[in-house]
Amino acid sequence: MRVANVQGRAHIVVDGEVVDVAAASGDRFPADPLELLERWPEFRDWAAGAPRAGAVPLVAGDLGAPVPRPRQVFAIGMNYRDHADETGLGVPVSPSTFTKFPTCITGPSAQVPLPPGDVDWEVELVVVLGRTARNVSASRAWDHVAGVCVGQDLSERKLQLIPPSPQFSLGKSHPGFGPTGPYLVTPDELGDPDDLALGCTLNGEQVQQGRTRDMLFPVPELIARLSAVVTMLPGDLIFTGTPAGVGLGRTPPRFLAPGDVLVSSIDQVGEITTRLTPSPGLPQPTGTPRAFART
Ligand code: ZN
Repeated sequence: MRVANVQGRAHIVVDGEVVDVAAASGDRFPADPLELLERWPEFRDWAAGAPRAGAVPLVAGDLGAPVPRPRQVFAIGMNYRDHADETGLGVPVSPSTFTKFPTCITGPSAQVPLPPGDVDWEVELVVVLGRTARNVSASRAWDHVAGVCVGQDLSERKLQLIPPSPQFSLGKSHPGFGPTGPYLVTPDELGDPDDLALGCTLNGEQVQQGRTRDMLFPVPELIARLSAVVTMLPGDLIFTGTPAGVGLGRTPPRFLAPGDVLVSSIDQVGEITTRLTPSPGLPQPTGTPRAFART
């Protein structure tokens, strides 16, 4: 099943058309995508035999983020060996975890203003939780997933890597830095949900290409390790890391400019298009590194 956010309301996608969940269920289920995820198991059972009456054509420009207001967004750095190598940050022994603050989440055809600094691209598989998860074993982890979508972990590298204490979460949370979509795809739609081809083009040039089977910590392991610490909630997102090919890893490094167009795609899931636009200047995220005061 594919579930889209069409103008803020949850819709089931069927053969290029969309069915409004609240209307088709006689308001048994809520229109709000996050509220629907709170009732995901019950909804999924109903949707298997749901009426398709009232279907209307899917208009790509009407699609919003599959989860527009997640309560928690987990993101994993250096989760593919080839990307860990190109960054020079080393291969982690435990998932390198940060957050993208939820206000950065946007939809599948976003226009994103570029802040000052060095903004880079990272195509990622994004996992959407469909149940509360606490101390979940890897073998049960996919049972807690509502679905997956395509994501871009846009990253402003100067602030992300500023010494002495890198600021991954801030550098990756400017407005629009979390494009997601085009819709939530349930795991049963995916041949092998742990082996999906993903890639990204910049102005038509292929810049990233990988497979999710090459993750150092695959999705089940991520959920096991994260839920051992944090209570994960329905609608929470996990940006699961990016393969090699980012701008920072190039010689010389290459970063995004106004007018650039990123197309990020995952096999069997879909693609999203992100357009970078100029933005009024903000303070340059650099400065003299200051050592921590020691007490
Ligand atoms: Zn990333």
